[in-house]
Amino acid sequence: MDRKTIALVAHDNKKPELVKWAADNAEELKKYDLCGTGTTAKLVAEATGLEVRPYLSGPLGGDLEIGAKVAEGKINAVIFFWDPLQAQPHDPD
Ligand code: PGA
Repeated sequence: MDRKTIALVAHDNKKPELVKWAADNAEELKKYDLCGTGTTAKLVAEATGLEVRPYLSGPLGGDLEIGAKVAEGKINAVIFFWDPLQAQPHDPD
């Protein structure tokens, strides 16, 4: 069976929540190839021991890299813990 790829992204205020969610769901996440924006990927990998391929940090273009992979069909799902209360300079990405 083809392994599917999930991208993980969290804005700064939401990173602790995403890291906890990933740790709580680590057994399920092991079934997928994981990737994420730079900082999120590093934090999730450190906290869970899962392999998470890092793209560039979000503000430096990581969201765009992940979007391009979605368009190519190489990333199948994106889990994005968004902070609706803080404007991000890279919101349009
Ligand atoms: P980061 O990027 O994981 O590198 O902090 C997240 C974002 O898109 O803001």
